[in-house]
Amino acid sequence: MIIVMKADIRPDSEEVKQIIQTAHQYPQVNTQVHVIQGTTRSLTEIYLLGSTATVPQERFEAFPSVERVVRIRNKYKAIGRHEETMESTAFDYNGVHFSQNSFHIFAGLCAVDTKEHVQEMFSALKACGLTTTRAGAYKPRTNPYDFQGLGKECLPYVFELAGKYGIKVIAMEVTHETQIDEIAHALKTSGFATGVMLQIGTRNAQNFELLKFVGKQTDFPVLFKRGMGITLEESLNACEYIASSGNRKIIFCLRGMKTNLGDPHRYFVDFSHVPVVKRHTRLPVAIDPSHSVGKRLEAPDGALDIHHATAQGVIAGANMVLVDFHPHPEKALCDGPQALLLNELEQFVEDANLVRECYQKRTAIFKNAYL
Ligand code: PEP
Ligand code: MN
Repeated sequence: MIIVMKADIRPDSEEVKQIIQTAHQYPQVNTQVHVIQGTTRSLTEIYLLGSTATVPQERFEAFPSVERVVRIRNKYKAIGRHEETMESTAFDYNGVHFSQNSFHIFAGLCAVDTKEHVQEMFSALKACGLTTTRAGAYKPRTNPYDFQGLGKECLPYVFELAGKYGIKVIAMEVTHETQIDEIAHALKTSGFATGVMLQIGTRNAQNFELLKFVGKQTDFPVLFKRGMGITLEESLNACEYIASSGNRKIIFCLRGMKTNLGDPHRYFVDFSHVPVVKRHTRLPVAIDPSHSVGKRLEAPDGALDIHHATAQGVIAGANMVLVDFHPHPEKALCDGPQALLLNELEQFVEDANLVRECYQKRTAIFKNAYL
């Protein structure tokens, strides 16, 4: 972090001493004072070095002697683009390629409730040529009396059916490290019939111990969901925990922000941040139109708000769509009101692919502009 003092503040002044004292209140933060000669003036700058990630910028901005505070962009050391000097990262998992240029639709059950529903879902995916899905076994619920997911008991049939229907990757939320062992064990027992992408839900976005745990293992890629009530910067820092622990197979997922200004949607759709995340990080970016919109609202043009939100994310370059479907939403034990129907899957895929093509044509316009 660099604190730029106002033009008349000398390096040996009381104001500078005050800033240094404040900085030293934070553990493992060191300071250096530099006098910078600009074209028209010289400026005193105080560099905060060391563990500055959690030092609040606002604390220093509040001093009248401070002109501005600049957070240096190397804090997302592992996931960051560093002013676009780094290329985006790519990885392959179970035969599926992920990068800032790839595009996959993960359509499926918010939560596994019955074996029959899993079978109906996977069979519909196969009919549409999809090999990527979602299926929640461990559900973090707001209310402790709500359905919490079937847990490890459903894993054997989920993986077996996935193998049968050619599913290559299942996004599956984990809320505790022990569940990763359960998944690994069931996958092994199934003869590695499919693959699993570990999902970190928005409610665990700052569960740093869980993030470190999924970061220490490299068997499974991780889908990290942005925290619903924290800044993008805080979410990126949290995501950095995964990468700094060793695992670089990460996808960053936008899923809407908690604010009533988004009403009547469940969360405020934040998909205009797709290019922002692609610029700041090297990671592929996913969108979740189901949990952000949260309802089957229909626009006067006949498309659902979920379709329009999907299009907004895909037209902006999203690399993955995580979307809820259910064969019988009225019987779903979790998030039924936002689930699309299986007979709507084909049109969803057609629409999303159409928008993806349009995105590619759009980027060609801008690339050509520089030729
Ligand atoms: C989910 O995808 O099932 C989920 C709970 O999403 P989020 O963590 O974004 O609320
Ligand atoms: Mn859900």
